[in-house]
Amino acid sequence: MKKSYDRGDRRRDAQLAQCERKRWFETPEAAQDAAEQRMLDNMSVDLAIYRCPLCGYWHLTRRVDDL
Ligand SMILES: [Zn+2]
Repeated sequence: MKKSYDRGDRRRDAQLAQCERKRWFETPEAAQDAAEQRMLDNMSVDLAIYRCPLCGYWHLTRRVDDL
């Protein structure tokens, strides 16, 4: 199977650069703690954690309920 590595790598580099700007955590526990802390600070915010397939660390993401 042939892939366009050049294009894929460049896109991944761009995404990894975004990862570096985001907050990231080495463990889900640390991410969860930070999420809970932020939700205490701002009750209107609902955060979830997810493991990033790009950098392998954990990020926080805003959970949006579209009702
Ligand atoms: Zn990431």
